[in-house]
Amino acid sequence: MAGSGAAQDRLDKITKTIAHEMAADVCSCYVMRAGEVLELFATIGLNQDAVHKTRMRVGEGLIGDVAAHARPIALANAQSHPNFAYRPETGEDPFHGFLAVPILRGGRVRGVLAIQHAARRDYDEQEVETLQTIAMVVAELVAAGELVDSRELSVANDLVLLPSRLEGSSMNRGIGIGLAVLHRPQLTIRQMVADDPEAELARLRDAVDGMHSAIDQLLIAVGQVEGEHAEIMQTYRMFASDRGWLNRIREAIRSGLTAEAAVQRVQNDNRARLSQASDPYLRDRLHDLDDITNRLLQHLAGKPVTAVGGTLPDEFVLVARNLGPAELLDYDRRRLRGLVLEEGAAYSHVSIVARALDIPVVGQCADVLNRVEPLDSLIVDGDHGQVFIRPSEDIQEAFTRSVQARQRRIAEYATLRDLPAVTRDGTPIKIMLNAGLLIDLPHLHATGADGVGLYRTEIPFMVRASYPDVATQLETYSKVLDEAKGKPVVFRTLDVGGDKTLPYFPELGEENPALGWRAIRIGLDRPAMLRKQLRAMLMAAGGRELRVMFPMVAEVAELDRARKVLDLELARLARQGHKAPASLQVGVMMEVPSLLFQLDALLPRIDFMSVGSNDMLQYLFASDRGNPMMNNRYDLLSPAMLRVLKLLVEKCGAAGVNLSLCGEMASRPLDAMALLGVGLRTISLSAPAFFDVKNMLRHLDLRELSGFLDRLYDCADHSVRPRLRDFARDRGIPV
Ligand code: PEP
Ligand code: MG
Repeated sequence: MAGSGAAQDRLDKITKTIAHEMAADVCSCYVMRAGEVLELFATIGLNQDAVHKTRMRVGEGLIGDVAAHARPIALANAQSHPNFAYRPETGEDPFHGFLAVPILRGGRVRGVLAIQHAARRDYDEQEVETLQTIAMVVAELVAAGELVDSRELSVANDLVLLPSRLEGSSMNRGIGIGLAVLHRPQLTIRQMVADDPEAELARLRDAVDGMHSAIDQLLIAVGQVEGEHAEIMQTYRMFASDRGWLNRIREAIRSGLTAEAAVQRVQNDNRARLSQASDPYLRDRLHDLDDITNRLLQHLAGKPVTAVGGTLPDEFVLVARNLGPAELLDYDRRRLRGLVLEEGAAYSHVSIVARALDIPVVGQCADVLNRVEPLDSLIVDGDHGQVFIRPSEDIQEAFTRSVQARQRRIAEYATLRDLPAVTRDGTPIKIMLNAGLLIDLPHLHATGADGVGLYRTEIPFMVRASYPDVATQLETYSKVLDEAKGKPVVFRTLDVGGDKTLPYFPELGEENPALGWRAIRIGLDRPAMLRKQLRAMLMAAGGRELRVMFPMVAEVAELDRARKVLDLELARLARQGHKAPASLQVGVMMEVPSLLFQLDALLPRIDFMSVGSNDMLQYLFASDRGNPMMNNRYDLLSPAMLRVLKLLVEKCGAAGVNLSLCGEMASRPLDAMALLGVGLRTISLSAPAFFDVKNMLRHLDLRELSGFLDRLYDCADHSVRPRLRDFARDRGIPV
């Protein structure tokens, strides 16, 4: 590596040295070129004519397989492997033993390094590890940009400098405009091997200590204000102290690597192992580990850990492959306007934190890092899951106007907050808040909401590494009630399964998860879980009001069984001398159409009902809510859905049961207008929707709308949305 000469000469020499030192008949190095093609750049043992001619696509042949999965392959007889792709120009007929490892840098595959033996032979673990370590050295040579111009891989040709738009998926709503800051805290590792392992171990020790105290500082700073962040950070801190991880780094140091190289080696292994995991929780942990690895490398390099100094633009959008929660918090949130992730999952820690900070996020934005240059102007449209790169002036203006309008509305809302939520013709409406994290609760007072209409208890379960015990749940629910300061809170029991998975819950591989083992079905089949949750809720509400709601109830008998569990816990509470809740209300989510035909039996048994329109739409129309092909296929403002709502309004009204709706529908002004027109008087929505919905209803003449709707219930339209939109427009109702 340190030798003189052109990069190609050095690569030739390195290949030769590897073949010699590993007693291999062949050593070949493939380098990644634009278009995901691996080109043979150097070889000893294969035909020299094949150099710069043999090319494999990622995924093609064994070499392509190593690149596609970023993991080593060792085979006693490569030629009998189904993925073996024979290339006559290389002359590799006589070789059987085959070992290839990815050349990784910054988590990206930059090439493949392979050795071959004529004889059939098994490769032991040490040989695989040795070749992996060597591949790290070669990675530096590749990344230096002499072999392949680095611009080739960043696709910086004229084409991509034109404005472009990338599709991703929305992970948090909102619009952010700013200059691109690329989050690539890549540190070049200059020295791979060390003579004095003890000295390296000591360096590692110091760096780990430094990292721990820096994380603790962050924890203290974050934990005092925002409870849930602290929990995420605790999990994170746990990873940073993981003994297995540190031991593997120490082992790598003892094998002769510098501390930096050892840290990188272990992370390359983790990447190869965890990126294959189908469990989203494990994949998320990989990102936490990436984050921690980078921190540790920075401590080893003695560089300040603040990933970014004072050079940040005033308004910036952060672009990253993925981020750990702590890394996001490193950036100045006053200037951070948006986040774009190449990977990312809606329930990953970083998106939960971003949501709490109200930063628009677009995730799963393939190839964004290759298309964005630092300080490019970017628009993150979190509402539609798209990113505009170097947008034209008119696009930029349109979005700027929309951001300004939003800000103006927020400012105006300060005045609207204290005005009553009453329609123009004098009907009071209760607007409740949907919440799921402690950090959502300040919105309760900022919006002037009447209470929490839906507290999704699964969200705190989802951000944890293990199942929370009663004491932990009790603490969370007590805090929620404390924060609510006497306003009502509807706690929904655990609604997992379907698309909502818990990291510590087995993956079931159901064919139709939305129709499968979820929500109350799990609660009834695993009564201990339900009992513990209800126990925690009852204890948290000692002396206060408690509202419990069961999700996905499909038949009255299920409610009866759940109620029995609640009664058992109430009795237990009394036996143990705990203070009972001052009052207890029980309700169900109306999400499964079968329940519509049991209303006469159901209503006398409950105090309230909340329509889960997200699920109701999917079950009513047999239309998967998570399937992009079904997106917008059926409409909530269809005659069928409105009829369902009308039936519920009439039946609940007659039975004296409080009816509300807590699906996303209530957060959209036009849909919310229809809900009120049908007769709902309570709706529960997400905080950012408050102003628009309240503003709408204060302009609404309910009697007039109700008469207008009467003519629509029996129409044959796909949707009455256009007619309702006209109604609103003609009367100046802001929707
Ligand atoms: C719903 O189904 O409308 C609902 C509020 O529940 P979730 O979105 O949590 O399934
Ligand atoms: Mg639901």
